[in-house]
Amino acid sequence: MDQCGRPFAGLPSGRRRAGTDGSVSLRFTYDMLPSRVVFRSGALDELADETQRLGSRAMVISSPGQRHLAERCAELIGDGAVLVYPAAQMHTPADSVRAACSEADRVQADCCVAIGGGSTIGLAKAIAFERRLPILAVPTTYSGSEATSIWGYTENGVKHVARHAHVQPRTILYDPLLTLGLPPSVSGPSGVNAIAHCVEALYSESANPLVSIMAEEGIRALGRSLPKVVKEPRNVAARTDALYGAWLGGVVLGAVGMALHHKLCHVLGGAFNLPHAETHTVLLPHVAAFNTAAAPEALSRVAAALGVSNAAQGLFDLNLAIGAWVALKDIGMPESGIDRAVELATANPYYNPAPVHAQALRELLRNAWEGKRP
Ligand code: NAD
Repeated sequence: MDQCGRPFAGLPSGRRRAGTDGSVSLRFTYDMLPSRVVFRSGALDELADETQRLGSRAMVISSPGQRHLAERCAELIGDGAVLVYPAAQMHTPADSVRAACSEADRVQADCCVAIGGGSTIGLAKAIAFERRLPILAVPTTYSGSEATSIWGYTENGVKHVARHAHVQPRTILYDPLLTLGLPPSVSGPSGVNAIAHCVEALYSESANPLVSIMAEEGIRALGRSLPKVVKEPRNVAARTDALYGAWLGGVVLGAVGMALHHKLCHVLGGAFNLPHAETHTVLLPHVAAFNTAAAPEALSRVAAALGVSNAAQGLFDLNLAIGAWVALKDIGMPESGIDRAVELATANPYYNPAPVHAQALRELLRNAWEGKRP
C-alpha cells in the first residue's frame, strides 16, 4: 500500500466494456497530477525565477558526479541557494536521507532543487516528504521520476517504495542541453526505462484514453530518437525528442498503475542490486512477448509507435540498435537467482494482463538471463 492507502499497482480502474448491443462504454477514473513544466533548450536560464516561485532558501542536490551542475545551479540562483548538496546515491539509502534532512534543517532550506537522474530526484523526494519542502526538478536522464509522486529508499537491504502527493515536483525544468554529456551507455537504457513506463501504461489496469495517447507518443519519440542519441550524443534535435519522450514516460508512470515488468525490475534490482535502467532494458522485450496474446491492442499500439509489426521484436531490435546489454547474466544477475526472483515476483504480484504463473515466469527470466531473442 502507498502512503495514501492505495495499492501501488492498482489505481482506480478504467476499461472499455462492450455492451450486448455492440456499443462500447468507456469507464475510467483519472487523478491528473499538477505540475508546472518548462521545456526548452536553454531552460536552465530560467532557474532563478522558477526557484523563486517555490522559496528563498534552496538546497541544491545532485549526485557526486554531477556536482558541477549543482554548483552551476547555485550560481544561477544566487543568494537564494543556501546549500549545494552533491551526495545523492543510487537506491537512496535511508541513512543518506537522514543526513540530508539534518543538512536541510541546519541551513533552514525551504525548497529543494534537484539536478540529475532518478537517484538525485529520489533523494529530493525523500527530503520533501520528511520536511514538506517543494521540489524543482531538473532531470538530466530519461528516468521519468520528476513527473511522479513515487519515491523509493533502501533500509537494511530492502527497497521500499512509497507514494505521496507532497513529493510530486512542483516544477520541472527540461533543458535538452543538459543531456548532451549523458554517455551513450547511460542514455540508451535510460530511454528504454521511459519506454517501459509507456508500454505498461498502455495495458495498465487503470489505463485511460488520454494516458494511452501520451504513452504511444512517448514510445514514438523515444523509438526514433534513441538510436540517433547514442550515435550522435550532441545532436540537440535528437536529445530534445528523447527528453520529450521521457517527459511523457514520466507522466504516464505517475498517472496509472504499472504491471509485471515493473514488478520484475523492482524484484531484480532489490534482490540482486542490478542496475536500474539496464534491468528495464533487458526485460522489456520479454515481458512484451509475455503479454502480447493477453493485451493485443496495447502491444499493437507499441508496435505501431515503433514502426514495426511485432512489439517484442521491435523492442529487442531497438536494444541492439542502441548497443544495450540484452542478457541479465551480463548485468550481474546470478543464474541461481532465477528461482528466487520467481518466488519474490509471484509472492505479492502486481496486476498483469496475462496471468503470471511460476513456470511461465521462470521461462521468461531464463530467456532474459541468456539474452535470447523473445
Ligand atoms: P541515476 O540517477 O543513478 O543516474 C545514472 C547515471 O547517470 C549516474 O551515474 C549519474 O551520475 C549519471 N548522470 C546523470 N545525469 C548525467 C549527465 N547529465 N551527464 C553525465 N552523467 C549523468 O539513474 P536513473 O536511471 O536516472 O535513475 C534510477 C533511479 O531512479 C532508481 O533508483 C529508480 O528506482 C529511480 N526511479 C524512480 C522513479 C519514480 O517515479 N520514483 C522513476 C524512475 C526511476
